Amino acid sequence: MPELYDDAPAGQPSNHESRAGQLCAEWGPVHNLLRGYKDGPEELKARFLPRVAALLARFVDEHGKCVGDWETVTAVPSSKGRPGRHPLVRAIGMVSSLASHYEELLVPGARPARHLAASDHAFEVTTRLDGRRVLLVDDTFTSGAELQSAASALKLAGASIPAAVVIGRFIRPGFNEAAHSLWQRASDREFTFERCCLCDPPWPEG
Ligand SMILES: [Zn+2]
Repeated sequence: MPELYDDAPAGQPSNHESRAGQLCAEWGPVHNLLRGYKDGPEELKARFLPRVAALLARFVDEHGKCVGDWETVTAVPSSKGRPGRHPLVRAIGMVSSLASHYEELLVPGARPARHLAASDHAFEVTTRLDGRRVLLVDDTFTSGAELQSAASALKLAGASIPAAVVIGRFIRPGFNEAAHSLWQRASDREFTFERCCLCDPPWPEG
């Protein structure tokens, strides 16, 4: 969670939201954690959920001030139609600084986001949000299409989004040159909880 990356993958629309996340290579430990806490065997899910919550809590405690003011927290809903309370919502519920601000604002819409294409209709907002400052949380940033779609739906309902916080950003370093370069630059910096992309960007803007 301490590394925050602000540049979208090549070909993705840029946006002004900040993304907070630790890069996680396919089947690396963070990827394993973020997959396992949702889709692993029950015993693994029980063990991993508090770890995901702890990562989120530590980021918010140390870098909440970098994100700025917000009053409501919401999560990007699962596109898998998972029954019951989403594990990410359960993790948010374990973070004392977020739990009382959580509100379910998004439900899946008529047209799901495709992997590389955000959609204003991927999610529906459950209430008008005129002027509300909403902190958007997701566990895994892959192409960014779902996060962008969620942010767009919230904005169309009147909210402002000071930041989107993700726990990990999934990357295949060998996918293309942009992914390789991103991975390389991130790997050159030692991981620490003491910085985020807002207070200590890993590279100059632009
Ligand atoms: Zn920070």
